[in-house]
Amino acid sequence: DPSKTAFKRVLLKISGEALMGDQGYGLHPPTVERIAREVKSVHDMGVEICMVIGGGNIFRGLQGSAQGMERTTADYMGMLATVMNALAMQAALEGLGIHTRTISAIPMDQVCEPYIRRRAVRHLEKKRVCIFAAGTGNPYFTTDTAATLRANEMVCEAIFKGTKVDGVYDMDPMKHAEAKRYDRISYDDVLQKNLKVMDASAIALARDNNLPIIVFSLDEPGGFKGILAGEGTYTRVGA
Ligand code: UDP
Repeated sequence: DPSKTAFKRVLLKISGEALMGDQGYGLHPPTVERIAREVKSVHDMGVEICMVIGGGNIFRGLQGSAQGMERTTADYMGMLATVMNALAMQAALEGLGIHTRTISAIPMDQVCEPYIRRRAVRHLEKKRVCIFAAGTGNPYFTTDTAATLRANEMVCEAIFKGTKVDGVYDMDPMKHAEAKRYDRISYDDVLQKNLKVMDASAIALARDNNLPIIVFSLDEPGGFKGILAGEGTYTRVGA
């Protein structure tokens, strides 16, 4: 039954670039709305949803520091970029009638809520979508690590990593026609083979807490819901 799922609470991680559509930069409102509809279809199944959105469509710390900016300053700019993306997604979700909270690791009370773990859990219990913004609040981390941290804290059953392709391949499937997709792969194999799933600290944190990572295509209409219902192709990273 495609309207049923075994999952009760999940975290959806998307990169900032997923929101820029065909533009090379920034936010593309129809794309944000399309992803919000995917989230809504899962929310309609009764699943509690956490989200972490990157900031790479606006600013990346490493880019800034490559141009001579201090790394920590550049990283804080990257964290602020994730807040903008979170607010855009919140607006799109609320436009679809879904109560949503943006929750920032860096307090900015006029803009959104500060992160208080028990308060966030309560929002989820009340079926509000929680978008965790500003990464971990610390420089030298990424939003992949933030996603793994929050998924652990919120006791999510899995991280759903939405990408451009339907899973983890042994080589870049955009460049190599012979690339093979894994149905399942262990955390250690991802690390050893240096496969581009999430950065190494995020994979290690997921491994140490036995948190499965499900890599799927966000470009596939209905894909997120389908995978929660056990359909479609994806890669499960985990034990
Ligand atoms: N960032 C950070 N600490 C965090 C999360 C993010 O310093 O906990 C900064 C970092 O500079 C990063 C930027 O925010 O480059 C944007 O996040 P990320 O690169 O993870 O975005 P994505 O690639 O997923 O769009």
